[in-house]
Amino acid sequence: EWTGLNELREKFLSFFESKGHLRLPSFSLVPKDDNSLLLINSGMAPMKKYFTGEVTPPRKRVTTCQKCIRTPDIERVGITARHGTYFEMLGNFSFGDYFKHEATAWAWEFFTKVLEMPVDKLYVSIYENDDEAYKIWTEEIGVEPSHMVRLGKEDNFWEHGSGPCGPCSEIYFDRGDEKGCGKPDCHVGCECDRFVEVWNIVFSQFENDGNGNYTPLAHPNIDTGMGLERLACVMQGVDNLFLVDTVQNIMKKISEITGVNYGEDDKKDISLRVITDHIRSTTFMIGDGVLPSNEGKGYVLRRLLRRAARHGRLLGYKDAFLYKVCETVIKENESAYPELREKQDFITKIIRVEEESFQKTIDQGFKLLQGIVDDQDIKVLSGEDAFKLNDTYGFPIDLTREILSEQGIDVDVDRFHELLKEQKQRSRDARKKEDTDAWISDSTDLSDIAKTEFCGYTDLNTGSKVL
Ligand code: ATP
Ligand code: MG
Ligand code: MG
Ligand code: MG
Repeated sequence: EWTGLNELREKFLSFFESKGHLRLPSFSLVPKDDNSLLLINSGMAPMKKYFTGEVTPPRKRVTTCQKCIRTPDIERVGITARHGTYFEMLGNFSFGDYFKHEATAWAWEFFTKVLEMPVDKLYVSIYENDDEAYKIWTEEIGVEPSHMVRLGKEDNFWEHGSGPCGPCSEIYFDRGDEKGCGKPDCHVGCECDRFVEVWNIVFSQFENDGNGNYTPLAHPNIDTGMGLERLACVMQGVDNLFLVDTVQNIMKKISEITGVNYGEDDKKDISLRVITDHIRSTTFMIGDGVLPSNEGKGYVLRRLLRRAARHGRLLGYKDAFLYKVCETVIKENESAYPELREKQDFITKIIRVEEESFQKTIDQGFKLLQGIVDDQDIKVLSGEDAFKLNDTYGFPIDLTREILSEQGIDVDVDRFHELLKEQKQRSRDARKKEDTDAWISDSTDLSDIAKTEFCGYTDLNTGSKVL
């Protein structure tokens, strides 16, 4: 049965309320009193202190739908069916209260009874050594052993340095052969989009002293996380996260403005999905008080906005437009996040100013590039010039190469990468934050996405006329 995203959120939260959980609103995307994290990336992240016992939770059972940003997933956004830099994470939490038996049984009840998901499409993974979980899933809950998968530490053991940690279990939804990679050994945990990981249930039952010594916790915890958009994607039977009802409306708005329809061209579809994702993440980030800057969270925001603007250009649309999409993002989300509407003017203005200033620098970059080519009658653009275009004018190397190749001019890419590497090292020395690191490499170098999708402006009929 078709269920809208907003309704799914409500079903989850009220289900766990019926199991004695206190419903809390989403915390801000900006972590409070926590320097270990740039932006909130999971439902449990803002509740760490409840888990460690440093702060007493308002109740031992809590349920939330948490706004999340995951910049390390950026290269997969628009490419896989299941990753966004922005998403909402549904979760139920036990702070030293219930444990494995209840957490697994309720997850299964929610999927098979409340949502009536077909059991034959569900698969459950466990951590390879977690025989206790295997027994519960197969004997108490009745999952077929053929639908159970044991995975290693990387996928199914949750740990973050020292402190509480433990094995986890995940529920996957099989979307069928046609969504998969087609390889004979395609399986649960495969990188492709056939088996979609929907729900992760973490059994935090050990304390890691930091030296790899694991002591069982007297009061183990439960922390679960389920991507709301992923859940909606499988429930609505759509191809990817961006076709989920409320998200799709945002993409439609982008199509309306740019005149590019979804489903007509694979490369343009990637751009439409990327823009849809990035306008969501940026609207929410600004809503939570992040402002564009050259470091930290502000840099993440700036990068996302520029990347979205760049994809607008890939669609052949040169003017600022993201600020016009913002209204739709707010409209689609205001029932759950009414604060967005209050901040609408502010958010729109920040996006517009940032977008217009980027358009200006990129136009200057085009002029500079044309100037070098006209003046020097060169066969190879130096790595230094390519770097300057990238660094000063936000001019991606792929774009430089693509345009010049039409005029029979090469780019000294090796030298460019050398310079980029030196700069990365300098920035790395300057800021050591893990999340920021994921961004340093591409201050506007989009080689990250180029591998899989950059089709050049030529494909989009703007060709060297862009100059
Ligand atoms: P994946 O392996 O698919 O990247 P994950 O194991 O990194 O997912 P978790 O850290 O276990 O994800 O997060 C819990 C849940 O949050 C996932 O099961 C998924 O439903 C959702 N989720 C995680 N990352 C994303 C993302 N980038 N976009 C949308 N939903 C996500
Ligand atoms: Mg992941
Ligand atoms: Mg995973
Ligand atoms: Mg997981």
